[in-house]
Amino acid sequence: MGYTAVIGMEVHAQILTRSKMFCACSADYAGAPPNSHTCPTCLGMPGALPTANKAAIEATIRTGLALSCQIPPFAKFDRKNYPYPDLPKGYQISQYDLPLCRDGQLTLRTDAGEREIRIRRVHLEEDTAKLLHQPDATLIDYNRAGVPLMEIVTEADLRTAEEAGRYLVALRRILRYLGVSTGNMEEGAMRCEANVSVRPEGTSELGTKVEIKNLNSFRSVRQAIAYESERQIEVLEAGGEVHQVTMGWDEDAHRTVFQRSKEYAEDYRYFPEPDLPPMVHDPAWIAQLRDSLPELPASVAARFAELGIRPEDAELLAEDRTVASYADSALSTGAEQGIDATTIANWMTGELFRWLSENNASIDEIPVTPESLVASIALVENGTINQNVAKNVLAEMLDTGRDAASIIDERGLRQISDRAALQETVQRIIAANPGPAEDFRSGKQAALNYLMGQVMRETRGKANAGLVRELLQAELDG
Ligand code: ADP
Ligand code: MG
Ligand code: ZN
Repeated sequence: MGYTAVIGMEVHAQILTRSKMFCACSADYAGAPPNSHTCPTCLGMPGALPTANKAAIEATIRTGLALSCQIPPFAKFDRKNYPYPDLPKGYQISQYDLPLCRDGQLTLRTDAGEREIRIRRVHLEEDTAKLLHQPDATLIDYNRAGVPLMEIVTEADLRTAEEAGRYLVALRRILRYLGVSTGNMEEGAMRCEANVSVRPEGTSELGTKVEIKNLNSFRSVRQAIAYESERQIEVLEAGGEVHQVTMGWDEDAHRTVFQRSKEYAEDYRYFPEPDLPPMVHDPAWIAQLRDSLPELPASVAARFAELGIRPEDAELLAEDRTVASYADSALSTGAEQGIDATTIANWMTGELFRWLSENNASIDEIPVTPESLVASIALVENGTINQNVAKNVLAEMLDTGRDAASIIDERGLRQISDRAALQETVQRIIAANPGPAEDFRSGKQAALNYLMGQVMRETRGKANAGLVRELLQAELDG
C-alpha cells in the first residue's frame, strides 16, 4: 500500500522593531552582554505592567495582509501558562482564539504546478529567554525575552518535504520584502516546527501527527520531514501505531528523537490577558496598511515571467527586493536597446549570481550598475566581444568597477570578425593538423571542436566562434 505525507508548518519569526513587545527595552540585542536588555517588565517582576508595541502589531497585520488573510476587527492577547525557566512570568503573552490574522493563503510554484497552501492564522506573541546549557549549570539570558515574535500557522496542506522547504523559502521571501523580519534561520530569527502524519494514498482522514522541533535550517526541515514520514510508514506497515508526540531533529544522528509527550491546549490554561486591553482596529487603518504593502515577490516573478523569462529564473530574480529592483532596471535598459529579457536574465542568474556567491557579496554592494551590465551584454550582442571574453570582462568589471569598453580597449579583446583574416588562420590550422581534419571528413564531429579550439588559441580567444565554425566547415567540406 502506498502512503502520502501530510504536513502543517508552524513558523516563528522575530519582528524587526526597535523596542520589545511589551516594554521599552531595545529589541536589537545581538552581541550585547547577557541580561543587559532587561527591565522589570521583561524580567517578569511582580507589579510590572505590559504595554503593547504598536509597530509589532502593524508588522503582523501587514504580514497577514500579504498572505491574503482576513483581519478580524477585534483581537486580544491571552496568557499561555507553562512552567519553564525561559519564561520569567511563568506564562507567555500570546494570542489564542482571536488572532490578529486568519484564513489566508500562499501560492507555491512546484514541479506539479501551482499549489495553494492555506494559512490558518498569524498571531503575535513574545519571545522567550535563551537557556545556555553548561556541563554543570544552565545559564539564562533574558535579552531575548519579550522580543516580538509572530507565529504563522498553515493548514495541513503540504505533502512533501520538498514542498515544505519551498513554503519556508516563499514565506521568508515575503517577510523580507515587507521588512518585518530578517528571516535568518541560522541566527534563530526564524524558527519552525513541522507537524507530520501519513495516511494511505487515496484516503482523506488525517493520521496521527508528530510535531518536530529544533529545525534550524532549510536542509534540516527537508531531511527531518523525509525521515519522519518514512519512520511513520514503517511503523504502520509493521502493524504498529503512531503516537502523538513532540520530537526533535538530531542533526548528527540524522534522525528524529522523542522529546516529550504531546501537550494540549488545556495544558496551557489559556485565559485573556487582563493587563492589556483588547484590540479594536479602525477599518481605515487596515485599509491604509493594505495600500502601503510593497509589490510582493509573486507579482514581481510573474512580471518577469511575462517577459519570457523562465519561471524558475523569474523567481530567482524576485528573491529579494534589491535583486528585483536591479533586474527591473537592467531589463528596462535592455528593452530600450532591443536586448531580450531572457538574455539579461541569463547573465544575471549565471555570471552575476555566481560572482556574488563566490565573493559572498550582495547585489547592493557591487560596483557594476544595471546600466553598465547591460552595456557589456550589448557588446556581445553587437559582436564586439564574444561570449567567453564577456564573462572575463564582467568578472573584471565586478572586481574593479571599471566599465566594459575600457577593459576591452586596454586589453585588446575586441572580437575578430574579419572574414579574410580568420579564413587565413583556419587554413593554416587545418594544414597543421591533417589528422583531425581527416577524422572530421570521415564523420567524426568531435574533431571539429578540436580544430575550433586550435583556432581560438591562435586568436587568444577573441575569434568570432560562429564565424570560425562556419569557415572550418566550409574549408573541410570543400
Ligand atoms: P496543536 O494543537 O498540536 O498545535 P493544531 O491543530 O493547532 O495542533 O495544528 C498545528 C499544526 O499542525 C498546523 O499547522 C496544522 O495544520 C498541523 N496539523 C494538524 N493536524 C495534522 C495532521 N494530522 N497531520 C499533519 N499536520 C497536522
Ligand atoms: Mg503546535
Ligand atoms: Zn524590558
